[in-house]
Amino acid sequence: MNTQAILVINCGSSSVKFSLIKPTSGETLLSGLAECLLSSEAIITLNIDNGTKQQHKLAAPFNHQTALAVLVEQLEQHHLVDDISAIGHRVVHGGEKYSQPTLVTIEVEQAIKQLAKLAPLHNPANLIGIKACQLAFKNLPQVVVFDTAFHQSMPDKSFMYGLPYSLYKKHAIRRYGFHGTSHYFVATQAAKQLNKPLEQCNFISAHLGNGCSVTAIKAGKSVDTSMGMTPGEGVMMGTRCGDIDSGIIFHLVENLGYSIADVDKLVNKESGLLGVSGLSNDCRTLENAMQNDNHAQATLALTVFCYRIAKTIASYSASLTQLDGLIFTGGIGENSSWVRTEIVNQLSLLNFYLDEEKNQLTRFGVSGNIAKNNARACWVIATNEEWVIAEQSAQLLSKVVQ
Ligand code: ADP
Repeated sequence: MNTQAILVINCGSSSVKFSLIKPTSGETLLSGLAECLLSSEAIITLNIDNGTKQQHKLAAPFNHQTALAVLVEQLEQHHLVDDISAIGHRVVHGGEKYSQPTLVTIEVEQAIKQLAKLAPLHNPANLIGIKACQLAFKNLPQVVVFDTAFHQSMPDKSFMYGLPYSLYKKHAIRRYGFHGTSHYFVATQAAKQLNKPLEQCNFISAHLGNGCSVTAIKAGKSVDTSMGMTPGEGVMMGTRCGDIDSGIIFHLVENLGYSIADVDKLVNKESGLLGVSGLSNDCRTLENAMQNDNHAQATLALTVFCYRIAKTIASYSASLTQLDGLIFTGGIGENSSWVRTEIVNQLSLLNFYLDEEKNQLTRFGVSGNIAKNNARACWVIATNEEWVIAEQSAQLLSKVVQ
């Protein structure tokens, strides 16, 4: 089939991110975000290829459907509708069932609904996006790409918890990992830098944004990752605490008057950089406070954040027998030279040393190897999950729609 462009949709409970992408080149023809959905503040912002930016307030009922109707209108106005050959959806949880992109069928929709048990905040929202697109783009095939899929190659020693086996067998309680599309994308880009097939490459990739995860990649496949059954596990993040002693939760509930809902809010929304600093979850704000105001808690938050990431990276020496390099991506990984220095300075045992000049220059969309000569490679690579979704959707369609 002739795949001109794929409309990539990432649907949250009150937002829809979209990009119209040419899968072969990654060129974005249109992109944007509908936000504050389900409230009268609902607004859609569109960035058109020629540099134009437009904002439209959405009319009642302010929902995903309304947002997609405006998107279709805009696509028509810019003569882009006929370019779309399919819709590619980002879906957060694919459980053990999905390790590959999949065409949407009634069974797949059912499975995404079932998997909402494991991702109650994300999968239902993703499903709303699929339903809304089925109405808005009636004749187009819809593909789902799962955030967990790349990690399905993990061996059982990585994905099992030290809990009774029956919880895994009966209730699917295990590590799944997230940010899979991003870890996969940056690994393909690093392999290109090495001029080697991905299947011959071993990396550790650190996706550091509001959510953060670190992945060990062996022969091009994920063999361990820091996020778990939910995105809450692993390194410290913007507002999530990451790993803590489970005993703390019992203490909070039994002795400090917390309800389970309070604990949920505490560990997911009030912890991490925000919780430790008492100031902000935004890395830029914390760096400013540390450098300009000598803010002790901001310094502590950033220090703990970096140490925990360095420790996780080092722990993957147990997963790999050879290592081509470390990859930084995500808003913090791509832009904060301070965070990269702080992390890499704690990894000299693995022969990681940064060239500080390169480190300072590799920000704001610039990619490259920032390691010292003779040290192990350390790349900064801007992630592009949308392109992977477009590419994988197009590849799947070329197989099934001849
Ligand atoms: P999300 O997980 O929501 O996609 P992003 O990948 O966009 O998040 O990353 C958001 C984080 O990136 C924020 O903590 C923000 O402070 C950080 N960030 C963005 N630009 C910079 C910068 N120039 N310096 C330091 N941190 C930055």
